[in-house]
Amino acid sequence: MLERIRIVLIGTSHPGNIGGVARAMHNMGLADLALVAPRCEVITQDSISRASGADHLLHQASVHATLEEAVADCTLAVGASARSRTLPWPMITPRELADRLPGECQQAASRVALVFGREDSGLTNAELQRCHAHVHIPTNADFSSLNLAAAVQVLAYECRMAWLSQADAAPTPVDDDEQATHEELERYFEHLERALIAIEFHDPAQPRQLMARLRRLYLRARPEKMEMNILRGILSATEKSAGKKTDSAS
Ligand code: SAH
Repeated sequence: MLERIRIVLIGTSHPGNIGGVARAMHNMGLADLALVAPRCEVITQDSISRASGADHLLHQASVHATLEEAVADCTLAVGASARSRTLPWPMITPRELADRLPGECQQAASRVALVFGREDSGLTNAELQRCHAHVHIPTNADFSSLNLAAAVQVLAYECRMAWLSQADAAPTPVDDDEQATHEELERYFEHLERALIAIEFHDPAQPRQLMARLRRLYLRARPEKMEMNILRGILSATEKSAGKKTDSAS
């Protein structure tokens, strides 16, 4: 289970924090570290000393230009943020995340991404809206932001507790229906937007959070690969039919 969990750090600016994250991960048995557009060097004296012996994770870490690339193969993405948003995203606690993990990690192709933001500005709305859920670590409302490595430590601990409790429990039956990956979902959202523009339901000049709201709806439904294919088929048929109508009208 733990090998199917990826820690994704976006735009980190302090090497020491990346080292602290590597240490927190290795303590809890996590090893898959992905860095998205880091704003600092990864291997420095600071990061190596803060990793305190877990620096192999720094050397193994994958580096990506975009969040999409870092989580393309992920079947569940959860964004960690201290802040609530104007368009609220489904919010869970670290414990609720832990309860979901054994089920989410059942299949060989399951990949769970835990996504963390920048030290100065956290995750953008667009980044959070690429995640299925928003995990918030309960904190003092007047001082809610943890240090990056400390936030990773809390979630990594919950991952370990979930893994330990699973080792005691009876094996969960394997569900054969494969979840859509992040990449498949993103292709669907692009297609959906094109089709909604074609049928003049969506005006990109006046977006009114439409795509964000639709994202939230579809991500909540956790579509499987087969369901994604059906939905994309419906969009193609809609586009075809809309095209015919415009042709006959002209
Ligand atoms: N100042 C930033 C917070 C940066 S802390 C802001 O306004 O959002 C760096 C990262 O640690 C955050 O992006 C988030 O991923 C994680 N983090 C910090 N505190 C958290 C909390 N209480 N709950 C969930 N994640 C948290």
